Amino acid sequence: MDFAVPNEWVEFGDALIKFIDREVAPLEHEHRSLLGSERTIYTEEGRFVPAVLELRRTVRKRSAELGFYTAFGAEALGGGGLGAQAAVYVQERLNTHCGPGRTLVQAVVLPSPFTNGLSPVLKHLDPDVLAEHRDGLASGDKTMCFALSEPDAGSDVFGMRTRAVRDGDDWVISGSKQWITNSPYADYAMIFAITDEEKVAARNGGISGFFVRTDTPGFSVPSVIPIMGHLGADIGIVHLDQLRVPDRQRLGPLHKGLSVAMGGVNTGRLGLAGACVGMARWALHQALDYVKVRKTFGRLIAEHQAVQIMLAECAMDIYAVKSMLRHCAWLIDEGRSATKEVSMAKACATEMVSRVVDKAIQVHGAIGLTNELRLEEAYRWARVLRIPDGTAEIQRRTIARRLLSGDTEI
Ligand SMILES: Cc1cc2nc3c(=O)[nH]c(=O)nc-3n(C[C@H](O)[C@H](O)[C@H](O)COP(=O)(O)OP(=O)(O)OC[C@H]3O[C@@H](n4cnc5c(N)ncnc54)[C@H](O)[C@@H]3O)c2cc1C
Repeated sequence: MDFAVPNEWVEFGDALIKFIDREVAPLEHEHRSLLGSERTIYTEEGRFVPAVLELRRTVRKRSAELGFYTAFGAEALGGGGLGAQAAVYVQERLNTHCGPGRTLVQAVVLPSPFTNGLSPVLKHLDPDVLAEHRDGLASGDKTMCFALSEPDAGSDVFGMRTRAVRDGDDWVISGSKQWITNSPYADYAMIFAITDEEKVAARNGGISGFFVRTDTPGFSVPSVIPIMGHLGADIGIVHLDQLRVPDRQRLGPLHKGLSVAMGGVNTGRLGLAGACVGMARWALHQALDYVKVRKTFGRLIAEHQAVQIMLAECAMDIYAVKSMLRHCAWLIDEGRSATKEVSMAKACATEMVSRVVDKAIQVHGAIGLTNELRLEEAYRWARVLRIPDGTAEIQRRTIARRLLSGDTEI
């Protein structure tokens, strides 16, 4: 395994950061009266106001024009085909550079790894259907959401109640989805529904995926779900009422939707882990800057051993996860099985960033708790990540199951 970072990735990272600094940050500055407060970002119901959606669309489209938005999409989908190692590297750099300041507008410079842009899930779509919709998604003009979870089906997907019933060449889907990111604003939804009750009861398949336009009658997002101190959200509840979808819009083989979904989720877990390493590095840099200016008891706090220990522990934590992640991404690029490694990376990275941000706040004292430094925002961001894309406990369950089934290579 080669630890040298190829020039191609470095140049990509440099260009992406330059784009953010030269085009996106000034745009945010120009619209600071809109973006400066959640009271102006969200409507009373907690949805993004149209001006925010338009800004995000502008940034997505510009990022696509410059080739950033599709760089990690598979070549088979017309994407740049940059692999897992490059994705982890770029996510890390992006988050180290931007920190939590990347929320909202900067967050859409790259699509989320499997729910938007040239998502790997789209590889399971009929080529003619894909051809009809691909360009809108690749250009950043249109967005998607990924609707798997339900009120009774989070970790345990087989608790799903949404059903798709065959009617001629169509499927008719009814049910309810919950916690669906970008659902209030998406043009398309990847929806997973029961197509064979017996298989689901036996926990052996029986769920299928469908690609749906959200303007199809029967699709609605009655409410959003604000979380962790926010006044609004991009997470919504989706109602599906007799939604009619042609069979040609199925995602992958009948009854095999869960493996289609999990393929996407695994890609997301790795990208998220890269972002965690970047955010942790950002927080450590804040702490390192601060300890060199703040004095107590007549000396810089950098000279107090208790503070030094916190800094050292942050570095140890980041280095361990960064190394793990590089290896995990390398396994994926080599085409090797990495199910338990991805779970380890997701669990370790999300837990690590919580510990690091917590220590960075501690190093700052009271000022670490203020909104101004954005460490508290990073803290909330980090806390959230231990739940989506498989909770910390579900990652451990996957790791243990792999170990017990003979996958003991560490
Ligand atoms: C910010 C955010 C965005 C999300 N976006 C999406 C999205 O776009 N699309 C989508 O489909 N879903 C999305 N989700 C839903 C997410 O995938 C689920 O919340 C997650 O899978 C956990 O399900 P749950 O919330 O129902 O918790 P539950 O499954 O009810 O779990 C509750 C607790 O029990 C533990 N637990 C459950 N089963 C076991 C077990 N077997 N062993 C040990 N512990 C167990 C869990 O770890 C957890 O601590 C999102 C969630 C969040 C918070």
